[in-house]
Amino acid sequence: MINTRSSLIKKYLYIVVLAIFALFIGPWLSTASAATGSSSPRVILNGRELDFEVPPIIENSRTLVPLRGIFEAMGANVDWNAASRVVTASKGAIAVILPVDSSTAIVNGNPCILDVPPRIVSGRTLAPLRFVGEAFGGRVTWDGKTKTVYISNASVDKPAAVKVNANQVNLRNGPSTLTAVVGRAGFGEIFEVLEEQDGWYRVSRGSETAWLAGWLVVAGPPAGTPEPEPQPQERIVVLDAGHGGFDPGASGNTLKEKDVNLKITQGVGELLAQKGVTVVYTRSDDRYVSLEERSSIANRLNASIFVSIHNNAGDLPSASGTETYFYAPASNLDLFAQREARAKLAKAIQTELVSMLLRKDRGVKEANLSVLRNTLMPSALVEVVFISNPMEEALLQNNDFINRAALGIANGIMAFMNDID
Ligand SMILES: [Zn+2]
Repeated sequence: MINTRSSLIKKYLYIVVLAIFALFIGPWLSTASAATGSSSPRVILNGRELDFEVPPIIENSRTLVPLRGIFEAMGANVDWNAASRVVTASKGAIAVILPVDSSTAIVNGNPCILDVPPRIVSGRTLAPLRFVGEAFGGRVTWDGKTKTVYISNASVDKPAAVKVNANQVNLRNGPSTLTAVVGRAGFGEIFEVLEEQDGWYRVSRGSETAWLAGWLVVAGPPAGTPEPEPQPQERIVVLDAGHGGFDPGASGNTLKEKDVNLKITQGVGELLAQKGVTVVYTRSDDRYVSLEERSSIANRLNASIFVSIHNNAGDLPSASGTETYFYAPASNLDLFAQREARAKLAKAIQTELVSMLLRKDRGVKEANLSVLRNTLMPSALVEVVFISNPMEEALLQNNDFINRAALGIANGIMAFMNDID
């Protein structure tokens, strides 16, 4: 997010208010509500009191409010993904992603640290008041005397300018992906905004105008303004453990592909997280997630990279080795524009994985696979080894081998990311 001075002042004021609140009002309130069990704060949005099935709570001087009720009252669309335990909400050009029990939310692809993680109370997601109130551009004030939260989002202005927040973005002649591509823009390019419609921005470039998808840009400084100090680009890697739930994938004599995939995927995620990469899993336990949902998770997050992790099976038990897939056909211009990056990602993973596992190098291949076709960012699908090969199945039962597989894939992802810096 861009740290303008006014937002810094706002943040500072907020901290002061919060500190006063915590010191004087917070403890009294929590005691009061604990004693009576019924005095939860009221929430007034644009002058109208909101009603909740699960009321707001105050905990350790933090107010947690029902997210869906408030977001919907503000006019946002809210979605809950039970598999990944992630709330997504969007309104106009703003897209919010909020994993439950995590203190990082993502607003238009940018991580945002929360005071306390959102959590589920009686089947409803409660999230910190300030975040919920401000995510879609509202202002939050607190009246301690009446224990009332006031949120106002009456005037959400379009930004004066936006900055491209993805590697390659199409400029179109209308506010929809169904309209013709009239040009392309690269990461960091800044455009003056002329109007907003359905989450798209009409922008000017030279003497022409074109439409840009709101989820691929962030509010930026007006063109011509000197850049503040360069901020490192935030990287979100979506890791996809193949299969799960009623879909076991391939099977060996004793192992199921879905279990092996999950182990390796979690290993990759831990290694990337140690390097400061933000990792999101399409599944983190044994459950079914549809192929469409897997790519949608990455697209909604505006992730930098998507990697799907599988193990192979062949008709002959002797089939063995490692292979990695990408997809970028000339018939799909959006994918074709990423051809070099997609091939490079697959190649980096294949090279590092083969050098780590020393199994047969079956090479990088191209195939029209759902998760590769439907992801908007560079993506690859790796088949670590053959679970149908008794010798490789035995290797997959060995923790050291699993760890080396995870390290190989993580090294490949890091090599790719360092290369595109
Ligand atoms: Zn598979």
